[in-house]
This record gives sequence, C-alpha cells and structure tokens, in this order.
Amino acid sequence: MPTKKIYQILKDREERLTPRRRAIIETLSKNGPWSVDLILPELKKRGLPANKTTVYRELNFLNNLGLINELHLPGRKKYYEIQTEHHHHLICSKCKKIKQLKLPAILCKMLADVTYINNCTITNHHLEFSGLCNRCNK
Ligand SMILES: [Zn+2]
Ligand SMILES: [Zn+2]
Repeated sequence: MPTKKIYQILKDREERLTPRRRAIIETLSKNGPWSVDLILPELKKRGLPANKTTVYRELNFLNNLGLINELHLPGRKKYYEIQTEHHHHLICSKCKKIKQLKLPAILCKMLADVTYINNCTITNHHLEFSGLCNRCNK
C-alpha cells in the first residue's frame, strides 16, 4: 500500500497525521520489516525522538486500522510492515535479517485446501522460512 493511500485513509477517517505518525509510516514503507528497536533510531534521526510506549501505541493504532501488518515470527520480538499483498518471510540464519519472500501462488492456494480437508474456515496463514538470504547466499 503506497504511503499516499495510507494518508488518504487517515484523512477520510478524520485521524490526525502528526509528524511522528508520518515518520513512522514513512519508515515502515522502506524495506522492512521493522521492529520498535529499529524504528526508534529512525525517528531520532528525523528529530522526532519517541519512547517505546509511544511507538507501540502508534503501531497498534495503525494495525487496528489494517494499514500495517504485525508479523508472527516464532522466538522473535514483534515486527511490523506496511500492508501489502500476501507474502512470506525468510529469516536469514547468517545476517539475522528478515526478508520478504514470494511463493508460487499455487502453493498458497494449496494451503487453502486445509479448509476443505478439515471442514473449517481458514482466513489466512503465516508461513516463515529459515535459511540464507540472497545476500548471504553467495
Ligand atoms: Zn543474510
Ligand atoms: Zn501464503
């Protein structure tokens, strides 16, 4: 989702776009995902220092509006990214970075079959991979 669209949604909902909120959205729109610990120095760089509680509050606010995504990564602190099309993550065992990973669409469609096999309703799935990222895989 482009940042412009996020600003428009906030405007439509008559939510305020404070400089700090804008800075957080701009940060998240750069290559992520981002944890609060990574976001804090970015805010400081922009002359908008904040504490963790404030940033968490902002992230929860954006998450509740469905504008950002909270990642489900086992054994990791919370990471966030701008809401984008469905994708997965690779956790690099060397540089420890989390990279976005696209799977062949058919794989995700096959996962939807779980619904039929179990007679339940699956609305989403979170599938993470570990290994070497494109940079470390050299
Ligand atoms: Zn790596
Ligand atoms: Zn998927």
